[in-house]
Amino acid sequence: MPSKALIEVANAFHRRKVFDAFGVSGAEELTVDIPAVLRRVRRLRDDFVAGMLKLTDELKDSCIDGRARFLDAQMLAVGERRVHAKKIIIATGSRPVVPRNGRNSAQGY
Ligand SMILES: Cc1cc2nc3c(=O)[nH]c(=O)nc-3n(C[C@H](O)[C@H](O)[C@H](O)COP(=O)(O)OP(=O)(O)OC[C@H]3O[C@@H](n4cnc5c(N)ncnc54)[C@H](O)[C@@H]3O)c2cc1C
Repeated sequence: MPSKALIEVANAFHRRKVFDAFGVSGAEELTVDIPAVLRRVRRLRDDFVAGMLKLTDELKDSCIDGRARFLDAQMLAVGERRVHAKKIIIATGSRPVVPRNGRNSAQGY
């Protein structure tokens, strides 16, 4: 998770503030090499993405790439293709919603 990889670096650097209490000295000399941090985060991100792409590649013909819509409870349309299944799991994710204004403006979403 790229964001968590970045937060982990921040936490590690922040820990230098308690080194004195532990009897570890020299913390004030520590610095952060931001380009190096971001190179690592991007490398991890690329590994995560490559892993997911490999998984979907391994699905071969079972993986159908396209926008799906229901024709009925057991039939999907993906482009020109029709997919019939006894059971269909909807895993379309979610999107954040920014309330328009005010404390109660999120009501009704
Ligand atoms: C910036 C960011 C950082 C995050 N960091 C973390 C983290 O560090 N740790 C963590 O646990 N979670 C993190 N999350 C949350 C995590 O990414 C989501 O909770 C997770 O991806 C949800 O998985 P999902 O499969 O339900 O949905 P998604 O990953 O959104 O997948 C749903 C898929 O369905 C597809 N789809 C939608 N409609 C259709 C349709 N009609 N036909 C075909 N396909 C369709 C979409 O294109 C999408 O590919 C982060 C999210 C963001 C945005």
